[in-house]
Amino acid sequence: MHIKANTVASLRYTLKNSKGDLLDQADTAHPFIYLHGANNIVVGLEKKLAGKMAKDTLQVIVSPEEGYGVRNDTLTQEIPRKMFKSMDPTMLVVGAQFEAQTNAGIEVITIVALTEETVSIDANHPLAGESLHFDIEVLSVREASAEEIAHGHVHSAGSSCSSDTKESSQHEHNRDEGGCCGH
Ligand SMILES: [Zn+2]
Repeated sequence: MHIKANTVASLRYTLKNSKGDLLDQADTAHPFIYLHGANNIVVGLEKKLAGKMAKDTLQVIVSPEEGYGVRNDTLTQEIPRKMFKSMDPTMLVVGAQFEAQTNAGIEVITIVALTEETVSIDANHPLAGESLHFDIEVLSVREASAEEIAHGHVHSAGSSCSSDTKESSQHEHNRDEGGCCGH
């Protein structure tokens, strides 16, 4: 079977940046599994995986434009520390990441600098501006279930959403760890 919309593909991969630093990986024992055609992975990678099948290997370089976007300097801000009063002070360290509600929805914010008075934050995706170097092997491809297609994501074996609740939009999943491939 070939990877196309409404199929579920299982991948082994490594992800490196242009310097060759390993950013993320999934191995055969813990593969990355996703529903194709449902915006679950970056667009540049999804395009290259279309039409592949089990045992295919591919090396893909995804540009920032088709990856996590180019860096946008207007997404960095210096904020008075007092705005963070409700936060656990031990969380206020350079490199700490947290989710925040912004005009654009929930964003991952990274603390990039601290002074006595201020906290500088960056709302760019941590991989914004990076070219993504993927080295991939397709392990398996299967048809998605009707429920997976309806939900727009993979259900891991034995954890169908229908067993939790009839209100399919209310359930919670363990999203596959694919920090890098996911959104
Ligand atoms: Zn679901």
